[in-house]
Amino acid sequence: MFLSKTDFKKIFTFSLVGVSALYFSQKKITSEQANEDNLKKHIYYLASDELQGRLTGSEGETKAANYLSAEFKKLGLKPYEGKSFIQGFEYNVKLNPHDDKTSTTVKGKNVVAVLNNKAEKTIVIGAHYDHLGLNEHHNSTLANSDGQIHNGADDNASGTAAVLELARMFSQNKTKENVNYVFALFSGEEDGLMGSKKLAETIKTNYPNTIFMINMDMVGRLNSNKDLTIGGVGTSPILSDLVKKYKPEGINLGLDESGVGPSDHTSFYLKDIPVLFLFTGTHNDYHKPTDDSDKINYPGQKIITNYVFNLANALGHEKEIPFTKTKVAPTKAVPKYKVSLGIMPNYADSKDGMGIDGVIDNRPAANAGILQGDTLTRIGKCEVKEVYSYMDCLAKINAGEEHPVTVKRNGEEKVFNVKF
Ligand SMILES: [Zn+2]
Repeated sequence: MFLSKTDFKKIFTFSLVGVSALYFSQKKITSEQANEDNLKKHIYYLASDELQGRLTGSEGETKAANYLSAEFKKLGLKPYEGKSFIQGFEYNVKLNPHDDKTSTTVKGKNVVAVLNNKAEKTIVIGAHYDHLGLNEHHNSTLANSDGQIHNGADDNASGTAAVLELARMFSQNKTKENVNYVFALFSGEEDGLMGSKKLAETIKTNYPNTIFMINMDMVGRLNSNKDLTIGGVGTSPILSDLVKKYKPEGINLGLDESGVGPSDHTSFYLKDIPVLFLFTGTHNDYHKPTDDSDKINYPGQKIITNYVFNLANALGHEKEIPFTKTKVAPTKAVPKYKVSLGIMPNYADSKDGMGIDGVIDNRPAANAGILQGDTLTRIGKCEVKEVYSYMDCLAKINAGEEHPVTVKRNGEEKVFNVKF
């Protein structure tokens, strides 16, 4: 999952519509089932310390890419381009987040395979496999975490494992589909959807009739309420009925219309391809070294993988999937900041303040005496309930102003004068 500091997820969470108990699960005709052991094996390897957090351009990324290529080869799939499953791409990344001048070129590797059923239509099923490495590119939400391995089990070994398993299911499926499948494992996602941009630029040249893209990013943490968010349902008029029709029993769907979101489906939506995006939600380990394999809900991930199998099957049988542009309502716009507090917010849901996961040295919060572990409740008169109201409060402040900032520390209220 890619979140700029001006949090995409605000747009996202605020546009969810619950559609839980209204629909009964349908009978499905499938010959293949996802295998939990396969999912587990892939995730444990990809999120192991050996791969050092799979940073784009790193040795760990190469190891992951080799593993993924070998899996595709075992299934008898064909490379997307040329003789290798690797599709290379390049971009620049800042070495120091506070300095625009020093940047370095990163060489990334998508791993892309095709199940060519000699069909007219093609569906892309994708997930990103890169993650934050040792925080070399400064995308961690934990302060002072440079040098710690960010294993990225949920983000996004989970989606990667699901794509590998779907590749197995479709290539071993007895019923031949009348659609080709492109299984796309992207790199460069955490630095801004770089790999998927590259594939989206080439997909219609190689497969002119690409009718759909399904993306999975963070599908490993299905909670006890079984909440699953699906984005992109507004990108075609057929989608909201379709996702409800095939919804697994007990799953609570939260639907989001937008084709633009915090992950790789955005790259395809921007090429006028209808998309779906599956996501089990954010959590305390998001973009931290603690996003580990033992915290994954494997039975939950199996349910989601089977769901995507059924959806992809159904989409292949649709006569037509008209593309529609979705709009982001002006009220959902991300606020613009002129100032920053210099803290790492906790993204977890809350009503009584936002946790502070980290405090950056020599920035306003640290200078005023605010500490990691404090809970932020108020900036000036503006009440902070969680990360979203925090962003709203921050957007009202101008550089140079001074405001009292209230935090809870060990149950006690403390007020600090912060100079922004
Ligand atoms: Zn991420």
